Amino acid sequence: MINGRIIADLHTHNDFSFDCHMPPEQAYAATLKNGADILAVTNHFDIDGVLDGIYGSYDADADRRALESARETYAGRLRIIRGIELGQPHHRPREAQEFLARNDFEYVLLSLHNMRDVPDFYFWDFKQMTDEMCRYWLERYFSQTLELLDFARENTGRNYALAHLTYPYRYMRQAGRTVDFIRFRDKLAAIFEKLVSHGIALEVNTSGYRQGLDMPMPHGEIVALYRECGGELTVVGSDAHKPEEFGDDITRAYELLRDCGFTYTCVPSRGGFERLAL
Ligand SMILES: [Zn+2]
Ligand SMILES: [Zn+2]
Repeated sequence: MINGRIIADLHTHNDFSFDCHMPPEQAYAATLKNGADILAVTNHFDIDGVLDGIYGSYDADADRRALESARETYAGRLRIIRGIELGQPHHRPREAQEFLARNDFEYVLLSLHNMRDVPDFYFWDFKQMTDEMCRYWLERYFSQTLELLDFARENTGRNYALAHLTYPYRYMRQAGRTVDFIRFRDKLAAIFEKLVSHGIALEVNTSGYRQGLDMPMPHGEIVALYRECGGELTVVGSDAHKPEEFGDDITRAYELLRDCGFTYTCVPSRGGFERLAL
């Protein structure tokens, strides 16, 4: 709890993610130390990267065992949700569907880290691009996000959230680029209509605060548009990869949600999304 508020960090990584080097025990201890009450473990499974051999494989069973053991250790102190950050399932829908059928996740974060046949935006050099090129790629990113959301429509019965909408913008901003998102209003509204009709939550990802954006992904203006489009389901996550990042800036995101008119955020459970008062 922080200032009497329940803190739910619903996007975190540990050793079972290819880009994180931290034993799960350290992650759980850090979560408690940093004042969080609810934690979703959402290690990476970027399906095209794994199947094409670019990333190492994801050991779902070992991840589950570590989580179950932590549930015993931290019983009564920390609620631990078994989730997954599923990257680009629409690139390999059949395999993604089989993967979800094999694993009983309570929560699925849908991510678009890369477009088809190109590397993760993390590897792009936006310093070499004009603002115009950045706008072009953002447009493509939003279009493909619409395709990503169709995966959830075709594979119902799970708690889905759309992770870090505006993800490429993190790297554009780090490269000194700025983009006015007004031009994407219609595209964003189309994304939000799909979120609402498919029952998918919008994630407010606080990593942007600490990674050069000084705002979350997506930022307030876009979260406000989601609400305008009838969006009610939100989740908040830090995208922690290091101990000090667990629970980071969650209260700041809660404040942003309140400013946008939300009275609650959500926590996934077996019965669907539970409400958590803001
Ligand atoms: Zn991600
Ligand atoms: Zn992540």
